[in-house]
Amino acid sequence: MDVKSLSDKSLLAHTFSLAQKEREILMSILNHLREIDRRKLYAELQCSSLFDYCVKVLKYSEGQASRRVSAARLLREIPQISKHIESGEINLTQLNQAKSFFHEMQIQKPSEKVDIILKLSGKSTRESEKMLWEMKSDDAPKRVTITLKEESYEQLKKVQGLKSHKAVDMDSLILLMCDEVLKIWDPTVTKRQGKGSQPQSRYISAALKATVWKKDSGKCRNCGGKSRLEMDHIKPFALGGLSIQENLRLLCRNCNQRAGINIFGQREEIRARV
Ligand SMILES: [Zn+2]
Repeated sequence: MDVKSLSDKSLLAHTFSLAQKEREILMSILNHLREIDRRKLYAELQCSSLFDYCVKVLKYSEGQASRRVSAARLLREIPQISKHIESGEINLTQLNQAKSFFHEMQIQKPSEKVDIILKLSGKSTRESEKMLWEMKSDDAPKRVTITLKEESYEQLKKVQGLKSHKAVDMDSLILLMCDEVLKIWDPTVTKRQGKGSQPQSRYISAALKATVWKKDSGKCRNCGGKSRLEMDHIKPFALGGLSIQENLRLLCRNCNQRAGINIFGQREEIRARV
């Protein structure tokens, strides 16, 4: 099928139904893995474990294999979660998050496990991670893992060295850095007087940006996302839209591009940027 020939409506409908089929297949695979595990059938193929079988025979990556093995075993213990996997309310990553949580908190009772998994239902993986983390203790600090390139790491070390008297650990250093950066980047912080906006000009003053930013609560007005936000002219500037508060909104880059496609159609340069 040439997806480029599909209408917007059919493209969305097809994708939605494919995702549903994908989840049904996933559930079926998990059920098969459960049974293979029960029979220890992987040993017939010279595999040392179900995980080994998933990697060697089914050609999953280690991460994919481990998520599937954990999910299959959790399903054996609490089969009632299968309908939530099939409906897409719970994904494999969330099941894995839950599994490590059970291990860490030494939760044994299947009924308790079900309760916790149902709480994650319909949440994003990030929300689930946050929720589980908060369940560990009320004031537990947030854990963040980042991978830095050599250059970023060196720069961070340099900053740490310069501020070692003020910031004794990484947490206080990051807080200090954020305070400094927000003075420059936060549009709601009053900026030194720049030139004012002219409604007929594309230029939007810092003061007007700050007003729009506050009006939209620092979120994309379409999807609610908070990153890669851009000022968008609701009636496009190219079509005579003015740079005034009523005609401005915050959109994330993707929603902004989609809004552009809705008005101007799919242009090659837009496609090339995505
Ligand atoms: Zn958006």
